[in-house]
Amino acid sequence: MNDRTSPPQVIFLGGLGRSGTTLLERLLGELPGVVALGEVVHLWARGVLAGEPCGCGEPFPACPFWRSVGERAFGGWSGPLAERMLHLRHRVDRTRRIVRIGHPDLAEYGRAYERIYRAAGARVVVDSSKHASLAYCLVAAGVDVRVVQVIRDPRAVAHSWGRSVARPEDGRPMARWGAARTALHWTAQNLALELLPGVTRVRYEDLVRDPAATLSWLAARLGLPAGGTPFLTGGTARLSPAHTVSGNPMRFTVGAVELRRDDSWTGGLASRDRRLVGALTWPLRAAYGYRSAA
Ligand SMILES: [Zn+2]
Repeated sequence: MNDRTSPPQVIFLGGLGRSGTTLLERLLGELPGVVALGEVVHLWARGVLAGEPCGCGEPFPACPFWRSVGERAFGGWSGPLAERMLHLRHRVDRTRRIVRIGHPDLAEYGRAYERIYRAAGARVVVDSSKHASLAYCLVAAGVDVRVVQVIRDPRAVAHSWGRSVARPEDGRPMARWGAARTALHWTAQNLALELLPGVTRVRYEDLVRDPAATLSWLAARLGLPAGGTPFLTGGTARLSPAHTVSGNPMRFTVGAVELRRDDSWTGGLASRDRRLVGALTWPLRAAYGYRSAA
C-alpha cells in the first residue's frame, strides 16, 4: 500500500476484446508497485450487483482487497451506487456518443473511477476496461490516464470471437460475434483509441514473441518503476493471484503460463471469413503491419 493521498499513475488498456489485454494486464501487474484491477467498467454490474468472483477466487463482496477499496472510495459498495453508475454509463459512456462528450454527468462518472484508482493504494494501477468510450470519458473528466492500445491481427480476433467459450464465473457461454461484426468493432475501437492523446500501441504478437523486451520497453515508456522482469523466463511467465474484478478467463490463471502465439485462425477461420475480415479492416490492418498473406 502506498501513500493514499498521492494519486496513482493510471494505465488504461484499450482494444477490442480477445486482443491480449488481459495477458498484458497480468504481466504489468507483476511489475513492482503496479496493481492490476481488471475491467473496472464491469465492476458495477458483475462485481457489486451480481457478486461474481474476483481474480483471487473470492466472490467480489467477500474479497478483502475490493472491500477495502469500496470502503475507502465510497464508504462501502452499495446497490444504489452501482445502479447510479450504470445509469451514468448509459448516458455518457457509449461508443456512438464519443463525439458528444461534455455531458453534465461526465464529472460524476469520471470522479467515481478516480476514487477507485486512488483507493487501490498503489503507485500504479492498471484498468483493462478496453472500451475507447470509457477512455474518452476519463480523459474528458480530467482523470490523468495513460492509454495503451493493444492490437492483434483482426483475423485472429475474429476467430476467437467465433469460438464457443464458457465463462468461468457462471459457466454460461461468452458472447460470440460473427466475422463481419468483429471486423467492424475492431476498426471502430482502434480508430477511436488512435485519436486519444499520447496513446502507446502494443502488438499482441510482439508481446508473446518477446515478452521481456516488450514489457521492458513499455515500462520504460510509461515511466514505471524499474525492477526488471524476473517473473519471465524465456516464453514462460509466473503469475501471482490478482484482484481483477472482471475480464477474460485468463484473469484466474496463477502459476507458470507459457506465452505462445495463438495462430489457430490460419487453419480455423473459414476462407470466406478471412477474406471478409481482411477487406473490412483494411487499410488500418495494413497500417498495423498485418498483411493479407499472413
Ligand atoms: Zn480479490
